Amino acid sequence: MIDLSNENIIHIKGKDIEYLQFRKLLDYKIKHCYTLSTNNFDAFGNKTILGNEDKLIENYKKICAELNINYKQIVRPKQTHTNIVECINAKNDDIDLFSTYINVDGLLTNKNNIALSLGFADCTPILLYDTENKVIGNIHSGWRGTLQKIATVAIEKMKKEYNSNPENIIACIGPCIKQCHFEVKQDVYELFYKEFSYMSDLQNIIKREKENYKIDTTLININLLKEAGLKEDNIIDSKICTVCNSNYMHSYRAKGEKAGRNTAIMCM
Ligand SMILES: [Zn+2]
Repeated sequence: MIDLSNENIIHIKGKDIEYLQFRKLLDYKIKHCYTLSTNNFDAFGNKTILGNEDKLIENYKKICAELNINYKQIVRPKQTHTNIVECINAKNDDIDLFSTYINVDGLLTNKNNIALSLGFADCTPILLYDTENKVIGNIHSGWRGTLQKIATVAIEKMKKEYNSNPENIIACIGPCIKQCHFEVKQDVYELFYKEFSYMSDLQNIIKREKENYKIDTTLININLLKEAGLKEDNIIDSKICTVCNSNYMHSYRAKGEKAGRNTAIMCM
């Protein structure tokens, strides 16, 4: 079995569940994970949840037991590729799956014992932590969310709602479709060019390959986070492509509509 650990990531192999953690977030004792698809672990997509909620809760119980989180603390929004980020200030004593936060793609909280969970299959997870004001964030930045600059929206919201200083924020970029596999046609290329052609490293962000283009959404998100005031040293990249590793993680590019979801969870 492969080990996906690298200088930024630790690959944890539990009894019947495997997941990744960021070394940097462990330094601050932040409970978190990015689950893998090994042992058929699936956090389910929004389409496949229907009729499968029991199975989903069973899986949440499993991963929460590993992370020492009460599964009832889980909040999971219904993600629809928006740039909407919500603050969670209180929570009922029950797991909240897809019911309260609809059309939401980022969650923030400064409360202990609220577990922010989102689902991913190639889209970029960005886990945020303000080390001074103790605020966490879990952001779903797919290519549409990246175009809408959800990372920027999240940092602005942390400043406004929690008085965060961007210099104190750590951003961990989870596994996602990397430039090696994010090949797009003219239409999507034009959308990216329109938003990001001002960036000084454009030649690295968009590479032409015959009739198509390969886009580095990780680099775009790193640039957006730096523009928002984060220190370069505080931006941590997992350096893992979900498509290259689709034997171990759910990937939309690799599996299409049948793809399950990896879940990123974060909790103080
Ligand atoms: Zn790849």
